[in-house]
Amino acid sequence: MAKRRECPSCRSVYVGDDKLFCPKDGTRLVEQVVRGSEDPWIGRVIAGRFVLERRLGKGGMGVVYLANHNVLKRPFAVKLLRREFVSNERALARFFREAWDRSASS
Ligand SMILES: [Zn+2]
Repeated sequence: MAKRRECPSCRSVYVGDDKLFCPKDGTRLVEQVVRGSEDPWIGRVIAGRFVLERRLGKGGMGVVYLANHNVLKRPFAVKLLRREFVSNERALARFFREAWDRSASS
């Protein structure tokens, strides 16, 4: 599983080894200790290209995550539907939708 680092200043969580400092405020990130209560989706790769970085919000049908496309290297919003609504990852992939680009995400 990818390393997770948390910004002590703004509490953003980043996945992977590429970031040592928070891109928002420049604070040095601290490695996160994996706890049982943490969202198990964080750090997972969906459909072979979306790395889930942090949870953005929760709705009636599912949860929206900030994800990084591992080829395009830009952030996407990924909505994961609750298990009641989907049966497999291919169905989930249909709900992937781009919501932000770098200029709009801050
Ligand atoms: Zn920060």
